[in-house]
Amino acid sequence: MRVLVVEDEKKTASFLRKALLEEGFAVDVCHDGEGAWATIQATSYDVLVLDIMLPGIDGLSLLRKLRGQKIGAPVLLLSARGEVNERVEGLNAGADDYLPKPFVIAELVARVKALGRRGLESKPASLRVADLVLDTVGHTARRAGQPIELTAREYRLLEFLMRSAGRICGRMAILEQVWDYDFDPGTNLVDVNVMRLREKIDGHFEPKLLHTVRGLGYMIKDGR
Ligand code: CA
Repeated sequence: MRVLVVEDEKKTASFLRKALLEEGFAVDVCHDGEGAWATIQATSYDVLVLDIMLPGIDGLSLLRKLRGQKIGAPVLLLSARGEVNERVEGLNAGADDYLPKPFVIAELVARVKALGRRGLESKPASLRVADLVLDTVGHTARRAGQPIELTAREYRLLEFLMRSAGRICGRMAILEQVWDYDFDPGTNLVDVNVMRLREKIDGHFEPKLLHTVRGLGYMIKDGR
């Protein structure tokens, strides 16, 4: 499971990152709202941990923007002591849980785990873009009713792209999500695999669904 921690206090942020990494989460950290917004556009997360008081876009505004864009990842809000109004506002704005500072790290980890599980349960069993359907339980894909043979890696790639449908998936985000790399191996690994996947899902079908966004990455969308 992949978690994004948005927290401007660097010490707290690195502490959270370390604790969540130890629990086996993949963790990214942003120190301000603008950076977080850009990161969330590029990568899909299973849980977001959002501090309310942030420089630039604050946590609550960021949460509203997310929900406005139908990004439904579970959100755990962090707030300083006494920010009761923000807490209520946050829950109204679509936060799933709330933890006041100072908190015990074990409690934060437990809540992130619970949100992650809830997120998994609420994920739909099938994803659809136009007539391309991915069965996330059976790990199979069909286009126009015809089964498409995928390797395990191609399945992960297609699932990531379809979960992010309509949004650009950068090469680095793909490497992280599909290969679990946190570095760029400097090869054309992603491009080669996307090309193979494209041949399978778009080769004999119209409209084309897997698009190259030059210089940025790839995107699956219904072109019509
Ligand atoms: Ca803060």
